Amino acid sequence: PQLGETTMGHAQATAVRPGYDPAAHGVGIVHIGCGAFHRAHQAVYTDDALARSGGDWRIIGVSLRSTEIVDALNAQSGLYTLITRGAGGTHSRIVASLAEARAASRDVAHVLAALVDPNIHLVTLTVTEKAYGIDRTAGDIDETHAAVAADLARPDAPTGVLGLLTEGLRRRRQAGIPPFTVLCCDNLPDNGHLLRTGVTAFARRIDPELADFIAQEVAFPCSMVDRITPAPTAQTRAEAERQTGLEDLAAVETEPFTQWVIEDRFPAGRPDWEAGGALFVDDVAPYERMKLRMLNGTHSMLAYAGFLAGCVYVRDVMADASLAALVKRHLAAAAATLEPLDGIDRARYAEQLAERFANPAIAHATYQIAMDGTEKLAQRIAAPAVAALEQGTPTRPFAFALAMWMRYCLGRSEAGETYDLRDPREASIAAAVAQAGDDGHALAAALFALRDVSPQRLAADAGFQAQVGEILNATMANGVRAVIDAEA
Ligand code: NAD
Repeated sequence: PQLGETTMGHAQATAVRPGYDPAAHGVGIVHIGCGAFHRAHQAVYTDDALARSGGDWRIIGVSLRSTEIVDALNAQSGLYTLITRGAGGTHSRIVASLAEARAASRDVAHVLAALVDPNIHLVTLTVTEKAYGIDRTAGDIDETHAAVAADLARPDAPTGVLGLLTEGLRRRRQAGIPPFTVLCCDNLPDNGHLLRTGVTAFARRIDPELADFIAQEVAFPCSMVDRITPAPTAQTRAEAERQTGLEDLAAVETEPFTQWVIEDRFPAGRPDWEAGGALFVDDVAPYERMKLRMLNGTHSMLAYAGFLAGCVYVRDVMADASLAALVKRHLAAAAATLEPLDGIDRARYAEQLAERFANPAIAHATYQIAMDGTEKLAQRIAAPAVAALEQGTPTRPFAFALAMWMRYCLGRSEAGETYDLRDPREASIAAAVAQAGDDGHALAAALFALRDVSPQRLAADAGFQAQVGEILNATMANGVRAVIDAEA
């Protein structure tokens, strides 16, 4: 049998069941992007909040693209199995905070109805960095982004993030319903401010008064999220069935560690997410910098170097002595760019990260982390590189990480196999590669020139760029393995 309202009671005792009656709680949140991460993170904190403090805070999950996950969740009344795997063994729990799911691509009327529902106080998002269509350098919307362009043309029938949020807020205002709070949970720097910039800039194109209203009345708190969650596979579903005795098409697996630091600005109320361990603070920025530079930056470095060296998973990278040494080197260099933070022992945080990366039970593919490099590297690698240049702390680890990304951008392994870059700016990368050929310095210059990837300060630093070019040339001449071993 498949997991669902009627079968949940028969789940094996190994699976922890919800500590509340889901039917006794109404909805209060619309979540856009019901991918793996949402189901392993925000939905779980909400599940804990419902169990401890109750309230009408169940979630309507909205998928912008995939209809598969929507159908899977609805067939199971929103229920799914969360599997955690780590040194303490494998544990499973059935999460009941998702009330239903909707696919925006075939059901936009229902999605808009949910966004206008006065019971909805909060819209949360995990749609990946590239889905927003915000030009971060200009602090404006990117009108060439497909969803932004489509939604500007038809604001009443939105398909993308900015269009949906703007139309939802417009309809609420028109109906005299107070706005919802918007909580971005994607790995973007200053994510709340960035999304506020995007939504108000989008709204300004449609109705300047609406834009002013949004700027004044809508809260966009920032948040830092952390829980390594690989894309679920057939093995995830098989493990869920082993744990619960029930088939589950929406199961996710993740690590035991979880962290959520949130700016406490929720004029329309919020669930008791502290129940799941969320930390509410006045300023998320230093936590976010720490996480983006240490966790995500190291992740990107090890994904490119590891992928090129033939490591399929992060755990394989950590089992390679040279790569593991480079992971520690990168963590230390990233930590050196950060200011001290109350209550955080950065050396301990670095140790914890190395342990989490090595978790043998988590199969996190280097190729998955390698995706969308042009969306990620500015905040993960370029920003700490600039800080290191300014402070005089080590820059070589950042130059190495960028050189590995650039080698990856060639789109072929040393054995000559080709792979897809899976980057929204694939075309610009391919043009840069075609122009530069196998000359490391030329390739570095061409990729440094890509807008948004490296800030002015870095692109203008001839010494740093030369370092990247040299590492690239060594990689092309001697091979990735030799460079990794020499570097470690
Ligand atoms: P996922 O692939 O499972 O889900 C991504 C969701 O975004 C899906 O609903 C997908 O349909 C949607 N999406 C993807 N590209 C889109 C586009 N161009 N336009 C509109 N929608 C699009 O990924 P995930 O593991 O859930 O991660 C999502 C995001 O969560 C990450 O990009 C990151 O910002 C954040 N996050 C993830 C992790 C993790 O370990 N997985 C950790 C911290 C933060």
